[in-house]
Amino acid sequence: MKNSIYSEEHRIFRDAFRKFIAREVAPHLGAWEEEGTVPRHMWTRMGEQGFLCPWVDEAYGGLSADFAYSIIINEELGKIGAQGFMVGLHSDIVAPYINSLGTEPQKKKWLPGAVTGEILMAVAMTEPNAGSDLQGIRTKAVKDGNNWVINGQKTFISLGENCDLVIVACITDPDAPNPSKGMSLIVVEDGTKGFSKGPRLKKMGMKMSDTNELIFEDCRVPLDHLLGTENMGFAYLIQQLQRERLICSIYAQTASEAMLEMTVKYCQEREAFGVPIGRLQHNTFKLAEMATEVDIGRNYLDSLLTRHMEKKAIMKEVSMAKWWLAETANRIAYTCVQLHGGYGYMEEYPICRWYRDVRVMAIFAGTTEIMKQIIGKKIGF
Ligand SMILES: Cc1cc2nc3c(=O)[nH]c(=O)nc-3n(C[C@H](O)[C@H](O)[C@H](O)COP(=O)(O)OP(=O)(O)OC[C@H]3O[C@@H](n4cnc5c(N)ncnc54)[C@H](O)[C@@H]3O)c2cc1C
Repeated sequence: MKNSIYSEEHRIFRDAFRKFIAREVAPHLGAWEEEGTVPRHMWTRMGEQGFLCPWVDEAYGGLSADFAYSIIINEELGKIGAQGFMVGLHSDIVAPYINSLGTEPQKKKWLPGAVTGEILMAVAMTEPNAGSDLQGIRTKAVKDGNNWVINGQKTFISLGENCDLVIVACITDPDAPNPSKGMSLIVVEDGTKGFSKGPRLKKMGMKMSDTNELIFEDCRVPLDHLLGTENMGFAYLIQQLQRERLICSIYAQTASEAMLEMTVKYCQEREAFGVPIGRLQHNTFKLAEMATEVDIGRNYLDSLLTRHMEKKAIMKEVSMAKWWLAETANRIAYTCVQLHGGYGYMEEYPICRWYRDVRVMAIFAGTTEIMKQIIGKKIGF
């Protein structure tokens, strides 16, 4: 199944990208974790190499590459524990909004910078009082002359500090019979008067990614910063979720694979009672169970990636993958730390960071419970 979406060019690209990140990303992950962010020059370095938004049309500076290139980039970053870099968010979650909804001038203005890494992109839906229940957002945008005037607050926004552009979900028709019919997506650029970024939030994991509150106080942006049609924002957000949750699923699966690999190695080397700990039957069985789950996860994910590339509507299946792969990664993280014993609790051992980092995978981009709600609806409840 997996080979069906990859050509020789994809394999060459994967090899080149793997070498690039082994040289320029992996050695710095610890420092970025300490710093709480990834330095800006790393983004432009990625851009120079064609590793950001490779799918963007050549007319806007991209490579017109297919989705398999995005899969490769996210998989390889996932395998080395660089999901907190947030490349997937910028390249494959936010920039596609500009591409699919933007007017020609909007695309010309923002896409080339997304490709070079000079315009980092974030999306702001969540608010202090509304996360899962997106229809409960309160940030408002009202028209005043040639401007939208935005007031409100967003929270937990990834790339919130470094972003040069943020797509903000706003209520534009408070009288709509249903908030989902009165929401719009509006682009706000960094430096716009009335737009400020709160201090970086201190998180349990994914510490290299900057996550912030964003504040809008009489923030005026031109009317032509509206993305797509007014009051269609909620429908657009739903449309984009299939790809967004597939990217999250890639990160969860690659995390499980990486954690299993490092734990198998540890269990071969560490001895207790005169044998490698992996040979103690309880541990062999734990490793066998994890290997089974990782294999099932990989096959299911690959089948969905193929179907997504065939432009199939697989929202139910992607919701299944998002929750199951995230929960599996968390179960695997727990067992892998256990198999490392006390060393698993030490920062010096990578499994310690993985354990923290995978926790959020069952929370962001739609929680496990929300995924089950979607699946429930699709199967008739
Ligand atoms: C590190 C990180 C990065 C993030 N990045 C972004 C970002 O870039 N942009 C952005 O907009 N948001 C971002 N988020 C926000 C994220 O999407 C939300 O945290 C998530 O959707 C959950 O919303 P909430 O935190 O308000 O929890 P709540 O919605 O308050 O949920 C609390 C609990 O109640 C459960 N619950 C809620 N509704 C139901 C229901 N109907 N049935 C059963 N259980 C339910 C939830 O599953 C959860 O367990 C990020 C979050 C984190 C932690």
